[in-house]
Amino acid sequence: MTVSSRDFVYEKFSDFYSDPSTVIPSPSLLGQRELGFLLFKERIMLRHKVFARISNLKLFLGEAVPSDVYRSCAYYENPAAEMDKKGWLGADLVFDIDADHIPTSCSKIHDEWTCANSECGFSGKGITPETCPICGGRKFDTKTWPCDLCLESAKNETAKLIDMLEKDFGFSAKEMSVFFSGHRGYHVHVENEAVKTLDAMARKEIVDYVFGLGLTISGGTAKGKSRRRGASRDFSLHDFGWNKRLKLGLQNFLLTATKEDLANAGIKGKSAAVLGNKELILKRCVEEGRWGSVKGVGVGTWKKLAEYVKDLESAKIDTVVTTDTHRLIRMNGTLHGKTGLKKVEFPLSNLKDFDPFKEAVAFKEGAVKVFVSDAPEFRLSGNVFGPYKRKTVELPTAAAILLICKGRAEVAS
Ligand SMILES: [Zn+2]
Ligand SMILES: [Zn+2]
Repeated sequence: MTVSSRDFVYEKFSDFYSDPSTVIPSPSLLGQRELGFLLFKERIMLRHKVFARISNLKLFLGEAVPSDVYRSCAYYENPAAEMDKKGWLGADLVFDIDADHIPTSCSKIHDEWTCANSECGFSGKGITPETCPICGGRKFDTKTWPCDLCLESAKNETAKLIDMLEKDFGFSAKEMSVFFSGHRGYHVHVENEAVKTLDAMARKEIVDYVFGLGLTISGGTAKGKSRRRGASRDFSLHDFGWNKRLKLGLQNFLLTATKEDLANAGIKGKSAAVLGNKELILKRCVEEGRWGSVKGVGVGTWKKLAEYVKDLESAKIDTVVTTDTHRLIRMNGTLHGKTGLKKVEFPLSNLKDFDPFKEAVAFKEGAVKVFVSDAPEFRLSGNVFGPYKRKTVELPTAAAILLICKGRAEVAS
């Protein structure tokens, strides 16, 4: 980012935080939380800050103009103290769903990574690997894009997560909040006395449940005289939790499954038996639980299908965020330094219709001329822009800031 681009973004962020109409909603018990700020020019993280009132914080934001604002999920006796002297009182249960962790077909088009080891520099497209396949390095420079499709898949994962939290864990809509992260995903927060004091291990158990990790499918019990043969003895699903999810998942999958879908699920030899008896299988096996009643579709097939469907039904959350009981998470109502979009809360019931490219737009006025090196087509505030390649264009402030923050454009001199 050039100095003039940075100054431009800084000035706009400054205007945003100084504007009396900007509202930063206060998290509960603000005074018990640690706040952290990433500073624009210095690129350093200020941590261990505490604010008793949201109005004080707002004043501070107007003066310090950070590129990113974070607050702890945890509550502390003394949030300003060093980490081991804070006096941990508990933490909200927090989930982060980010397109970075979801395999989408478009990531191969708009996402790139380069190994940060200067002697290596190996690069690729799509999801960034954990380690570099050439040198084993763990640091990468990445180029990603908050694309519509990626955000739509993140939304689907969020919907699955919320469904589990509601139906399997019994959290009420009142205890859950859902947010657009301001970049490539969604956050779900659960505030409830029962979760507050869970340690990292207990939170890991919740993560495992959400992923369906360590799930074993039990066989049915042979009742009375009915002699169940084959599949029903070694494979059965009851009607709650993951078992129910698998049952519904199998139903959905089988309804539209093609030969190719079955091959993806690891079923090749038996695909004709499955496809040729679809209706019978759905009724007798899935609906009535007589898993062994269709010839050619046995335990092996059901286990493979269940394993595949489990993956479809699990929610792809970021494990680390949920298990870290001291985590700082972006603060609601503040700007994301990589996009200039706001983190925004919206009602759970609006998840399906929520449009991040409309509701998270912070800058609604003005325009600026920028030189765009490379940008895919994108949507913002109901307008469509791009694609651009090495082109000077005048763009509305929000679109220009998005491109500059994503490293795709600079303010034109
Ligand atoms: Zn490397
Ligand atoms: Zn995408």
